[in-house]
Amino acid sequence: DSAFLSVRDLYVRFSTEDGVVKAVDGLSFDLERGRTLGIVGESGSGKSVTNLTVLGLHDPRTTEVRGEILLDGRELTGAPERALETLRGNTMAMIFQDPLTALSPYYTVGRQIAEPFRKHTGASKREARARAVEMLQKVGIPNPALRVDDYPHQFSGGMRQRAMIAMALVCNPDLLIADEPTTALDVTVQAQILDLLKDLQQEFGSAIILITHDLGVVANTADDLLVMYAGRAVERGTVREVLRAPRHPYTWGLLGSMPRLSSDVDEPLSPIPGTPPSLLSPPPGCPFHPRCAFTGEVDGDRCRTERPVLPERRGGACHLTDERKQTLSTEQIKPR
Ligand code: SF4
Ligand code: MG
Repeated sequence: DSAFLSVRDLYVRFSTEDGVVKAVDGLSFDLERGRTLGIVGESGSGKSVTNLTVLGLHDPRTTEVRGEILLDGRELTGAPERALETLRGNTMAMIFQDPLTALSPYYTVGRQIAEPFRKHTGASKREARARAVEMLQKVGIPNPALRVDDYPHQFSGGMRQRAMIAMALVCNPDLLIADEPTTALDVTVQAQILDLLKDLQQEFGSAIILITHDLGVVANTADDLLVMYAGRAVERGTVREVLRAPRHPYTWGLLGSMPRLSSDVDEPLSPIPGTPPSLLSPPPGCPFHPRCAFTGEVDGDRCRTERPVLPERRGGACHLTDERKQTLSTEQIKPR
């Protein structure tokens, strides 16, 4: 009961002109130090919102947050902005999809890496600059002592991503949140960045949350997996468990739309039919029911009326019987 990060019954709602968006709808998960949790789902599933809320980066004027977020035993929900500011960039840090949202075009890369270090450690300018060079070296930027004085536009896309990782890790954060960190990169650079995150985790022992819409990304990088749909967790387990024997029709769909590495070259990808529901008025019962091919297998109207519960440690939030999930899982997941 002493997870490093513990999220309990988290609800996040935004007020918009069109009404209240139920972005996160009763989410719970735990994360240990030294482990990577993959959070997977389509856009609008609540995965990014969850993590912005953990970091306290939501707009308090339009956002209602309920539930508990405990970081190393400290309650973050409702913590004063000053307390969160001390934690951000220091105890917890974030890597974004687009480095240009994190890096300012007006300052050198080195200065932007050095700044959080100075702020949180009180290091001198000279020490912080040396630290920036060291971090650029760690993330694999060639000639770091020269490149430290470059501006972001002088870096390639992959190098900017690395620079942002250097910035996020400069204070050895205990919790690192990476939101689609490799989506904009080509496959080779993607693999390098994910390897780099793993190496840095080994060195710093950080807990990592890796947010992605791509199961392929978590397959080799994460230890645990949470599949989100319409603001809820619909499946959880270790990556191995979920990829080998998924227990939710949505996860079957995600796996079906993953490129296969096997030889059936002509087999088309089968994306999940339909679109994620509007979170202004999410469907009653199981939020996946409008897109699910298995509602007929469940007694009566339960899929449309009764919210399925997610088992505590492993399983899928779905009304199908365990036996049926097992059989269907084997049928749905062809060997790769
Ligand atoms: Fe499909 Fe029903 Fe299971 Fe939801 S509860 S995933 S609608 S079978
Ligand atoms: Mg997102």
